[in-house]
Amino acid sequence: MANNVIRVGDVGIMALSDGMLEFDLCNFFPTIPPDSWRQYESHLTEEHKVRFNLGSYLIRSGGRTVLVDTGLGPKPADAPDAPWGQLMHDFQAKGVPPEDVDTVVMTHLHRDHVGWNLVAQGEKYVPTFPHARYWMSAKDWEVCHEPDVQPQRFPNAPACVWPLAELGLVELMKGEHSITRELTALPTPGHTPGHMSILITSQGERALVLGDAAHSPVQVHETDWVSRADMDPELTRQTRRALMERLEREAIIVAAGHFQAPGFGRIVRLQGRRYWHGL
Ligand SMILES: [Zn+2]
Repeated sequence: MANNVIRVGDVGIMALSDGMLEFDLCNFFPTIPPDSWRQYESHLTEEHKVRFNLGSYLIRSGGRTVLVDTGLGPKPADAPDAPWGQLMHDFQAKGVPPEDVDTVVMTHLHRDHVGWNLVAQGEKYVPTFPHARYWMSAKDWEVCHEPDVQPQRFPNAPACVWPLAELGLVELMKGEHSITRELTALPTPGHTPGHMSILITSQGERALVLGDAAHSPVQVHETDWVSRADMDPELTRQTRRALMERLEREAIIVAAGHFQAPGFGRIVRLQGRRYWHGL
């Protein structure tokens, strides 16, 4: 089996990627002293930066095809060398027609999770996944319309999220939500107010699509390390701590979109510390 696909009971999970993003530590983790990174150098690039995969997951469950998150979107015309904008190439390379997707679920509405929802055609937008309905949390839908929050926190929502409503494609999730018999969206708030992770349960096996409840394997142990992208730092910490404890205790497979691709792994404990163990 290719390493970009895992099976969880009867469910198949395929990792896809839109490319990657890199940040200076002082930019992405402004509150973490540089010295604290010393023991985690292996998680940094040679230039001492953090590198994030822009992962999406295609989940086949009970005849349904569910895409979780849609990357950062097409390369801007003025940045043809941008290291992202690959998602549709990856669909093609893996032999998945976009028409197969009947459900898009966004873990949250930050720009690197909604980018390929729509494509602009002249004055109008058309859905990239023509047979899909688009699910998101009601809380994020509300907050991405707040004028004092949207420009900074949800900069591409006007192009990548809002037009979905005019097309009649928006489905809102309030609290825990059952997507298929085997998939459940769980509220994991903090990173955004309505952030969701997707739990897969089939034949006694389980996996969780994490979303941005963690950006780096370092946060599996350092659950208090928040980034500038975490909108509510204290709630982010609480959610991440509870989640990591549960993932470890219940030995749930994790699909972490921002960890090194394909992002499949488990949370294990060695000598009193939690670690990320890639599959
Ligand atoms: Zn993200």
